[in-house]
Amino acid sequence: METCFICEKHQGTIKTSGSTIYKDDYVYVGHIDRKGKPNYLGHIMIDLKRHIPTLAEMSIEEAKAFGMIMSRVSKALKESEGAEHVYALVSGNSVPHLHLHLVARYPNTPEEYWGPMDVYDWDKAPMGEEEEVVQLCNRLRYHLENQII
Ligand SMILES: [Zn+2]
Repeated sequence: METCFICEKHQGTIKTSGSTIYKDDYVYVGHIDRKGKPNYLGHIMIDLKRHIPTLAEMSIEEAKAFGMIMSRVSKALKESEGAEHVYALVSGNSVPHLHLHLVARYPNTPEEYWGPMDVYDWDKAPMGEEEEVVQLCNRLRYHLENQII
């Protein structure tokens, strides 16, 4: 089988931005990695552990776990990071391993920059270096560990 960036990330053979926010038997949650470029703070990746291409191939158990963590991380972005809205997107154009982008939109983002990728174009978007990404991941992990569900 060809090597897969996301499978390698789960196996820990490559290092990506930030730290692990959450993982269990079905899902892995971390921050986006832009290969050294500053990251939009609060652009979170939810990966299915199993290497399947789209939402359509999930088992019922995987779908339950995926849906649950989507909601929990969205709630954490609002409560811990002050997001006023959370965008969700499955693209899969670059890596055929199911992963969902959750992107926080913060208060006062001008409407012309609303959208999961449009927020990057705002010159005042909250971009961060590695240390800030690590701190954000730590806050989200702590929030999830203490979240009442
Ligand atoms: Zn994979």
